[in-house]
Amino acid sequence: MDNFRHINFRRGMRYSRYFDSLCMNRSKPLLTRVLITFLLLFSTGAGAELSFSGPPVQGGMITGKSTPGASVTVDGVPVRVSGEGYFLVGFDRDHSATSLVEVRYPDGRSESRMLNIEKRTYDIQRIDGLPQRKVTPEKMDYERIRKEAAAIKKAREKDDPRTDFLNGWRWPVEGPISGVYGSQRVLNGEPRRPHYGVDIAAPVGTPVKAPADGIVTLAHPGMFFSGVTLVLDHGHQLSSSFLHLNKTLVSVGDRISKGDIIAEVGNSGRVTGAHLDWRMNLRDARIDPQLLVGAMPNQAGDRNKTKIN
Ligand SMILES: [Zn+2]
Repeated sequence: MDNFRHINFRRGMRYSRYFDSLCMNRSKPLLTRVLITFLLLFSTGAGAELSFSGPPVQGGMITGKSTPGASVTVDGVPVRVSGEGYFLVGFDRDHSATSLVEVRYPDGRSESRMLNIEKRTYDIQRIDGLPQRKVTPEKMDYERIRKEAAAIKKAREKDDPRTDFLNGWRWPVEGPISGVYGSQRVLNGEPRRPHYGVDIAAPVGTPVKAPADGIVTLAHPGMFFSGVTLVLDHGHQLSSSFLHLNKTLVSVGDRISKGDIIAEVGNSGRVTGAHLDWRMNLRDARIDPQLLVGAMPNQAGDRNKTKIN
């Protein structure tokens, strides 16, 4: 958890300040620090036109701001840029040490920025007591699993010009965090894929609130692994997925506002107990929702409180 505090502390910092904090530790002579500052500010030639906010860390996402009409590539791949010049850059769980952002402005000038991606370490999480068929599916399950994975992929692939992601994030459910992003999973003693969501323990029926504005792109009544599943599209191929629900309360195509009740917490699919599994995907990258939303409110000291009813 130390790692998280470390990252949260930097959340929302301008990238340049983040970079400063890495480069400019106290041990460096003043002249070196001044020189680094100078390079940061002027090496790109047009520094004021390109800025980033958010932590450049594995599992993280940063929002870039260029100018209207600019085109942007990330590691050579073109990404959507909003009318105001906003674009998103995401870093998968095991992203390499750098990422190259290149911007071409409408007047023909171009600018590039090499981002240094902070490496994270991940825990191993052992979960026992799952139905064995959910850990090692039977042959007859494969076709269903394949179809459901394709449906989720299709829902997450929508590339909508909306910029719902600019208005900040809230927790969809409040409660103890029972699983974190990136942890290596050992299910019933067998190594499996890492966990890509944040799990929040809450009783069946607890309302799930939209963490940000979006449009519903999938509402499935029951998938093999993820049970009742909902996908909310925030624009620019950034989506939230909610797994193991009791039921969904919205339909595909619905326009949702941040805070709207969209579903109920459940224990459907491959689970050992009721919780919400919240995942985020940006294009091909799996994003850690905890890095965007910040600390869970009202948790510290909760165990000392007495329930009245
Ligand atoms: Zn989970």
